[in-house]
Amino acid sequence: MELNLTIKKFHEGLQKKEFKAAEIAEDYYRKIAAEDEKIGAYLSLDKTDAISQAKKVDADLSADKEINFLAGAPLAIKDNILIENETATAASKILKHYRAAYDATVIKKLKEADAVFLGKTNLDEFAMGSSTENSGFKITHNPRDLERVPGGSSGGSAAAVAADLCVAALGSDTGGSIRQPAGFCRVVGLKPTYGAVSRFGLMAMASSLDQIGPITKTVEDAEILFNAIKGVDSLDSTSVDFKHKIQDPRFKIQGVTIGIPKEYFQEGGLSKEVSGGIDEAIKSFKKLGFEIKEISLPHTKYAVACYYIIMPAEASTNLARYDGLRYSRIKGEKITNLKEIYFDQRGEGFGPEVKKRIILGTFVLSSGYYDAYYAKAQKVRRLIKEDFEKAFDPSANGVDVILAPVAPTTAFKIGEKTTDPLEMYLSDIFTIPVNLAGLPAISIPVKKESGLPVGFQLIGKAFCEDEILSIGKQYENNV
Ligand code: GLN
Repeated sequence: MELNLTIKKFHEGLQKKEFKAAEIAEDYYRKIAAEDEKIGAYLSLDKTDAISQAKKVDADLSADKEINFLAGAPLAIKDNILIENETATAASKILKHYRAAYDATVIKKLKEADAVFLGKTNLDEFAMGSSTENSGFKITHNPRDLERVPGGSSGGSAAAVAADLCVAALGSDTGGSIRQPAGFCRVVGLKPTYGAVSRFGLMAMASSLDQIGPITKTVEDAEILFNAIKGVDSLDSTSVDFKHKIQDPRFKIQGVTIGIPKEYFQEGGLSKEVSGGIDEAIKSFKKLGFEIKEISLPHTKYAVACYYIIMPAEASTNLARYDGLRYSRIKGEKITNLKEIYFDQRGEGFGPEVKKRIILGTFVLSSGYYDAYYAKAQKVRRLIKEDFEKAFDPSANGVDVILAPVAPTTAFKIGEKTTDPLEMYLSDIFTIPVNLAGLPAISIPVKKESGLPVGFQLIGKAFCEDEILSIGKQYENNV
């Protein structure tokens, strides 16, 4: 069944009365029933609420009421984002029976816009991973090649969008989890500036790095969804009020300079297929009239090591709340003392990757090691941030945006990297620096005739989502 709707096409079709919102939601559920068994994008569905929400939008339309751009749009939500009364597992057995007590701020905003939530999507447990193979429940397959991973950790959301099992989705990105799966599945993914979108109601992994963002079929849709969820929130003190403006589609090209970081091509083991794709994208931007300039981000090589100290440190603290007493009980009747609670709940509830990171995080924060690891990593993080500041510095003839690969390789085979964690960690080398620096970046599919999907990223200055989205739209519409 072909639905192939973007948010924009869906909205236009609704307005022209070509279809009803409830019909489209039903069609998506039929499609999910027929096709998701082989993909495994969804962990849970909420048909009753979705259909009744869609009917409400249909009633508004019949009554000739003005409707919001997102009204009735069937979305998929990563299962680490809370929707009141719905299961929220973060793909962890420890939260198998947990139902969210409140809405995340992004959900509240989307509910106010009358969006429809089809269901919750699979991820690496607590968003820790790059392939969705770390889910405590099931593996998600890449719709472009079922033997391959969809990327991670928002693999379920990216697969749902790529397989057209929803119109658009939300994911979260701590070290690449929106952009890398978007790249692997040939869809668009936006990681907003740290602070642009409220994290309230996102299950915290590493609080100084996490951001929620859209995964969509087009750059235009990413912009629509981003505009709906962004903004300051009193429930997240790191959120910021800023004026993101939708750029004029004739956004100036003359004089806009795109930087190409040379280290990304020298380090990180870029595959032939990816470097070929990136060369094509660079050529297209040159043809469009953009100026291309080589730049240097000299501390890139330390980014993965730095991230794998800061992220586990924060995650070990954040995950302490799953103490076996709150949120869920797995088989509580056997338990007679505290030690048993830990073995039973944390021992069985957490998967191996999560345990590894909790142990690592606890170690780097322990007295005697704190300065050598955690404090040092914070200093390295500053150097990485400064690399970007220098590259963008207008007084030093800096560039406007940076173009880079999303991942060193195309989607790998299921099982190919599970036995080599270092190899898996290194696959985030091009996405992690952006989170450490708190910048916005969008992953866009390279337009090419054949082969597996290749994504490129446009990295912007903090709170300049408008620029990367505008330049992304130039590529989307004119190449
Ligand atoms: N793959 C990275 C990790 O495992 C990033 C995950 C994410 O962005 N949530 O930590």
